[in-house]
Amino acid sequence: MGPQAALPERLSRAVEARREETVRLLQEFVRVPSVTGYEGTFAAAVAEAFREAGLHTETFEATREEISPYLEHVGEQARYEGRPNVIGRRPGLGGGRSILLNAHIDTVEAGDPTAWAEDPFSGAIRGGRIYGRGSCDMKGGLVTHLAAIRALGDAGVELAGDVTVAATVGEEDGGLGALATILRGHRADAALITEPTRLALVPAQGGSLVFRLTVRGRAAHGAVRSRGVSALEKFIPIFEGLRVLEREREASLSHPLYENIDDKAPLSVGLVRSGNWASTVPESLVAEGRLGLIPGEEMRDIQDLVAGRVAEIAARDPWLREHPPELGWIGGQFAPAEVPVDSPIARAVARAHEGVTGGRPVVEAVSYGADMRHFVLLGGMPCVMYGAGDVGVAHAPDEHVNIEDLLTATKTVACLLADWCAAAG
Ligand SMILES: [Zn+2]
Repeated sequence: MGPQAALPERLSRAVEARREETVRLLQEFVRVPSVTGYEGTFAAAVAEAFREAGLHTETFEATREEISPYLEHVGEQARYEGRPNVIGRRPGLGGGRSILLNAHIDTVEAGDPTAWAEDPFSGAIRGGRIYGRGSCDMKGGLVTHLAAIRALGDAGVELAGDVTVAATVGEEDGGLGALATILRGHRADAALITEPTRLALVPAQGGSLVFRLTVRGRAAHGAVRSRGVSALEKFIPIFEGLRVLEREREASLSHPLYENIDDKAPLSVGLVRSGNWASTVPESLVAEGRLGLIPGEEMRDIQDLVAGRVAEIAARDPWLREHPPELGWIGGQFAPAEVPVDSPIARAVARAHEGVTGGRPVVEAVSYGADMRHFVLLGGMPCVMYGAGDVGVAHAPDEHVNIEDLLTATKTVACLLADWCAAAG
């Protein structure tokens, strides 16, 4: 096949030609731990890989000062130092649409290493898959970007528009790096995040609110418990009332991309602390939980809805009427976000996927929060997600990504760049 071959075919060949190198890069990435908050060592390796791919590369750390007005969106940060974000740029010839490619470089903890078939940082290959923490979520996505850019170079494709690759910290804990990237002025005509979507096109992500509920009781010796008021017993009807609220929401929420999702907007109580002694009636209870939102819902409305329901339940109980439970919203409050399914970037990703695979991609929403919301809501950029790997194995032992899918995602991204940023050559 000469240079006359169609562009998707040329780019696919270029991606295939670097298969071994792409696999090796992901293995190397997986071998450098980068748990949220401790991304520094890995960021240095990423910057090196960016330079080797020919990108104009800079790094920067988010500062407490610039983030403090936005803490509601990303949550309190334990630390800011030693957590560089890496920005790489491939300037275009001019005149084309620009794109920002994003991948987060942090991962969750490896967890119990004995639950893994091999070391969580092995980068081992078995059955056509690369294993290790971060392989799927989402060092594979970062490698996708770099391998796609390499393929463009190999195929002699020049772009009119600029490509920016942002490798960012802190996604698992609210998206510190993505937010800082926007605050530093990085913008493009669209953004793509290669989170593991099983090669589905994802134009919508859920949001979440984290609450803390404090219920007061009155302590007494357990031998004369009727003289006290158990905060635990007072919490139970509130918990049941919140469950009813969850079911009502599940039944009434309507969004075309969420029709087939079981937990559209789950309300889950994840932590309960009560009492201080086995034979003392508990005088207080603290419950913390998480409530999901779907695109189209406003965070304030849902906060008011939950507060109203708690107040209604309290009004029915003489003790709770006198001692109303306190409801607070803690941590990062993550807004849902979406772009229209027929927006130019969504259509361009679908077209690129079809050019590579011969079929239309599945289009679906996800119920979890991701950095997509920062790009859409704060950055004003249309943003979608598309990548190899299954979120079902992310955050779990034996996390892995399928090499064939990784290559397919890479081909799609290469074709997307050629199309979106208007290739020449
Ligand atoms: Zn992720």
